[in-house]
Amino acid sequence: MEEACGHPGKETSQDLTYKIIPYFIVKAMVDIIGQNATKVILRKIDMLNLLELRETPSLDETIPLENSLRLMETNMKIFGESYAVFSRRAGYNAARDIKLPNTIIDTIENSSKFVDWRRSMKNLSEKLLAPVGSRVEQNLLDDGYVIKIYKCPECRGLKTNKPCCYFLSSFIGGIIKRFFNIEVDVDEVRCMALGEEFCEFRVILKR
Ligand SMILES: [Zn+2]
Repeated sequence: MEEACGHPGKETSQDLTYKIIPYFIVKAMVDIIGQNATKVILRKIDMLNLLELRETPSLDETIPLENSLRLMETNMKIFGESYAVFSRRAGYNAARDIKLPNTIIDTIENSSKFVDWRRSMKNLSEKLLAPVGSRVEQNLLDDGYVIKIYKCPECRGLKTNKPCCYFLSSFIGGIIKRFFNIEVDVDEVRCMALGEEFCEFRVILKR
């Protein structure tokens, strides 16, 4: 898919996303539909290798975006809207389990002493999204924040009829829980898969 808002001359032909996205989706599939059914699907799209990884990929490991999209499109075809169950669980588990580089942990620990969690999350989001070239803009709200993600690592290249970044939504919630011990609701209100220029998430404290 063509980049609608590219920076002329700066786009690489190879679009990348995180390996942890398909990795945790596949783990969720195994949990929910079992190893055999998962294998059948992965064999069909030539991605069986995702089942064979022994270690959780690190956050800065990237893969071609088209591989991740192939998995999501296939799941959408087979499971319809229920495919979201895999992505939600995957995002939550990824936030809980991934190892973050020490530089990122230091950033969070230092900033959380002086800065409120919303500003720390802006800082963290920028660092987390750097490996795939995504960019963020944040607006603070009284009870949370709104974040726009340009070049979304989950959905750019997909076409759906409602916001579909379930992995990212639950990843954001999971990270906030993990590092700040705060419960939030995360709602994706605009999505590149609907033709928007960015994905937009509302992150609001749970009452
Ligand atoms: Zn989206």
